[in-house]
Amino acid sequence: MYGDYKVLLEQLKFILCSENIKIDESMKKYTTFKLGGACDIMIFPSSEEELIESIKCIIKNKTPYFVLGRGSNLLVKDKGIRGVVVNLTKLNRVSIEKNIIRAESGANLSNVSIIAKDNSLCGFSFACGIPGTIGGAVNMNAGAYGGEMSQVVIGVKVIDLNGEVFYIPREEIEFGYRTTTVMERKYIVIRCDISLEYGNKEEIHDEMKDLMHKRKMKQPIEYPSAGSTFKRPEGYFAGKLIEDCGFRGYIHKNVMVSEKHCGFIVTRNENATASEVLELIDIVKNRVYDKFNVMLDTEVRIIGED
Ligand SMILES: Cc1cc2nc3c(=O)[nH]c(=O)nc-3n(C[C@H](O)[C@H](O)[C@H](O)COP(=O)(O)OP(=O)(O)OC[C@H]3O[C@@H](n4cnc5c(N)ncnc54)[C@H](O)[C@@H]3O)c2cc1C
Repeated sequence: MYGDYKVLLEQLKFILCSENIKIDESMKKYTTFKLGGACDIMIFPSSEEELIESIKCIIKNKTPYFVLGRGSNLLVKDKGIRGVVVNLTKLNRVSIEKNIIRAESGANLSNVSIIAKDNSLCGFSFACGIPGTIGGAVNMNAGAYGGEMSQVVIGVKVIDLNGEVFYIPREEIEFGYRTTTVMERKYIVIRCDISLEYGNKEEIHDEMKDLMHKRKMKQPIEYPSAGSTFKRPEGYFAGKLIEDCGFRGYIHKNVMVSEKHCGFIVTRNENATASEVLELIDIVKNRVYDKFNVMLDTEVRIIGED
C-alpha cells in the first residue's frame, strides 16, 4: 500500500508536519457512529495554505480524496477508505467583525454558536446542538428547529475539483433540503462567512439551553449514531413511518432502531459493524415501502468499501 502512495507522501511531507500525516488510520475514531475500517492516509491541514497546497498535491497525484469534518453524518463501511481523508478539524479558527462571523471549515457548530451568543448575536442558536463542523453544515445545509445554514451564510471560500480557489457569494449558492451547490459541485469549504442580527444575550442563552434540552429529551445522544438516518420524505416524517411499522427499539444483531427516536439507527455495543447498520437500513426501507409505498432515502452519507 505504501508503495502506491510513496511519491504523494514525500510531497505531502513538504506541506504538512509529520504528526499531521497518519497512515492506515481507523475511521472509528473519527465518526460519531464509531464505525468503519481504516483509511489509507489521513491528513490534518491546520491553515488555509496547508489545505490548498495539500489538495493541489493530491489532485496532481491523481489520488482519490474525501473531506472529513467531525464525521457526524457518515457511515464508513467496514473495509475503510482508499486514498486520502482530509480531516479539517484542525482548521478551526473563528473571527468576528461586528455582526459577521468568519469561521474556518473545521470550526465546531457549537463553538460558533457560543461565540455568537457571547457577542449578543442571534440567529445561530439552531446549530448549538448539531455535532458537526461549519464545512459539513454548509455542505448539506444542516438545520434544526426552524433554522438552517441558508438563513445565515453570506459567502463561502471554496476549492473546486481542479484545485482552483474562489469565493462564492450567497446569491450564487443554491440551498435545498439537506443539499447545496457546494455538495453538488463537490467543492471543499475552506471558510464560511455568516451574518447575524444583534439580540439580547440572555434570551439567546435561554434559547440555546431550551434547544439543548429538547434534543436531550428526544434524541438518543447517549448512543453512537450519525443523527437522523433518513431524510424527511415529502409529506411524511421518517421516524413516524418507521414507528408505524413496529420498529421502535427493533434490534438487528449489534445495532437497533432507537427506542427514543425511531428516525435514528444506533449501535448497541462495540461489536457493531457498518454492514449491520446497512442491513438494518435495508430492512427498514423495505418494510416502510411495502406498508406505505414511500421509499426512504438516507440522510447519512455512506462511503468506503465493503
Ligand atoms: C446526535 C446527532 C444529532 C444531529 N442533529 C442534526 C440536526 O439537528 N440537523 C442536521 O442537519 N444534522 C444533524 N446531525 C448530522 C450532522 O451533525 C450534520 O449533518 C453536520 O452538518 C455534519 O457535519 P460534519 O462536520 O460532522 O460532517 P461529516 O460527517 O464529517 O461529513 C458529512 C459530509 O460533508 C462533507 N464535508 C465535511 N466538511 C466539508 C467541507 N469543509 N467542505 C465540503 N464538504 C465537507 C463530507 O465530505 C461529507 O460528505 C446530527 C448528528 C448526530 C450524531
